[in-house]
Amino acid sequence: MTEELLEEKHLKGDTSLVSRVRLVFLGPPGAGKGTQVKTLSKILNVPSMSTGDVLRSEVASGSELGRLAKNYMDRGELVPDDVVIKIVEKWLREGNAKRGFILDGFPRNLRQARELDEILKREGVELTAAVYLDVPEDEIVRRLSGRLSCKRCGAVYHIQFNPPKEDLKCDACGGELYQREDDREEVVRQRFRVYVESTRPVLDYYRDARKLLVINGLGTIAEVNKRIIEELREMTRGRVG
Ligand code: AMP
Repeated sequence: MTEELLEEKHLKGDTSLVSRVRLVFLGPPGAGKGTQVKTLSKILNVPSMSTGDVLRSEVASGSELGRLAKNYMDRGELVPDDVVIKIVEKWLREGNAKRGFILDGFPRNLRQARELDEILKREGVELTAAVYLDVPEDEIVRRLSGRLSCKRCGAVYHIQFNPPKEDLKCDACGGELYQREDDREEVVRQRFRVYVESTRPVLDYYRDARKLLVINGLGTIAEVNKRIIEELREMTRGRVG
């Protein structure tokens, strides 16, 4: 996937897009954030982090944090801000803020967005852009009901649109694929409601800061990827390098 994209003309020789890009990805569950973030992270050569993935691995390991988080996650509710902010702050301070980064699934509400700005300020850097993947609710439900996730590396597939080469086996790492507890339809609808209530104000926050990039999230993975790259290139022209 990444190789194909790199082969494409629009990315060839593009070093202007940039080792120091700092991005957050916003959008409803199932908008394709995880897939796009993982691909872009390779193309732009910056580390990425998904708060959902970190929390799921805490749940899997049975840690105290994981036990706390599981209660919220299974119901499709947000884990308390303090918990998630600590995870993100630690990761950013380990050098990733300076190196450039992409965050998937954070911030989810205004408090998290503001805290992120504070953390970055303390690190002496600034967010480049907030990328919002715009996908309507009907499409979300259709996508998530067929989604499969890798237990080991977090890669995502879709039974119909992006099937693994072998049944229930991850192409990337050979790990077992499963349906996330929170990808069941009633939980998906709950997560969508949570998203509308909590995350929409975050869009206004970034729009006011002139950092919001609204990207049409419909179409193939490569099409959406190309749109993001083009918009980012436009936005960062002469600003990062
Ligand atoms: P995701 O994989 O991003 O869809 O996240 C799955 C679940 O993890 C969410 O439904 C929340 O319960 C929890 N979660 C992930 N990121 C955050 C966040 N930034 N704030 C609060 N809860 C989160």
